[in-house]
Amino acid sequence: MIEYNQPLYRPPAEANSVIIQVTLGCSFNKCTFCTMYESKDYKVRKLEDVFKDIDTMASFYQDSVKMFLADGDALNMETNHLIKILDYAYLKFPKLRRVSVYASAFNLNDKSLEELKLLKEKGLNLIYYGIESGSYEVLKKIQKPISQIKMIDSLNKAYQAGLKTSVTVILGLAGKKYSFEHIKETANIINQVKVTYLSTLQLMLEEGRYQKFIKNFDGGFKMLNEKEMLEEQKSFLEQLNPSNKVIFRSNHVSNSLALAGTIPKDKTRLIEELSFILKSL
Ligand code: SF4
Repeated sequence: MIEYNQPLYRPPAEANSVIIQVTLGCSFNKCTFCTMYESKDYKVRKLEDVFKDIDTMASFYQDSVKMFLADGDALNMETNHLIKILDYAYLKFPKLRRVSVYASAFNLNDKSLEELKLLKEKGLNLIYYGIESGSYEVLKKIQKPISQIKMIDSLNKAYQAGLKTSVTVILGLAGKKYSFEHIKETANIINQVKVTYLSTLQLMLEEGRYQKFIKNFDGGFKMLNEKEMLEEQKSFLEQLNPSNKVIFRSNHVSNSLALAGTIPKDKTRLIEELSFILKSL
């Protein structure tokens, strides 16, 4: 088997996928809420090393149909480099039908429509993308400053290229003071793009992270309690009016209430479930 460079993360939906590390760490690594790759320096792995790992995994799991390319933002790689990896993966795994990656908002913004179309043609299918918040003010505070319009353009570009996107939003990220703006602007993004999957997580800060996280919140940061998190969730769902069908989940380990459905079909039912729980709190 191959020896992974730890820590290794993958989306929950990739539990049965072959995992190949094509980059190490995150090329950005500055978001104040995130500690995932803080122990790693970002690096693009050499092709020969990636190919060796693909060979090894193919010798054990030749019939695999899904592959996830780690680490934090494999889409940051040069497009040609990523294409060589995709070509080799499909050559060695004849039954492969889905390859996915994590991408930061900056990576997707940097890729042209032509590059994304080429990647899709070469077998990249799904991009995991952290929106976190649609509010630029909040994004600046968490040190992930990218404008709403850039995120909307990037996600629509991916859709135009035929790529599926799975996006995450973090409830509680803006604290009490900026909660209204956080939810309004985040719903505004979803209503203007065509994502395939949408998940909401709840803000969880690792020990020792709190001071770093709150330092950009002028006037202090007040963490939302469980009830306020669910109120944000409800308000977010109420404001969602996407133009396409979106598969919605809130079943991350951080979520105090697991919800699942398809928007818009299940929107009313999800809001009713939340209202019912909120009444009892
Ligand atoms: S871009 Fe993603 S992986 Fe990188 S620091 Fe931010 S949240 Fe973490």
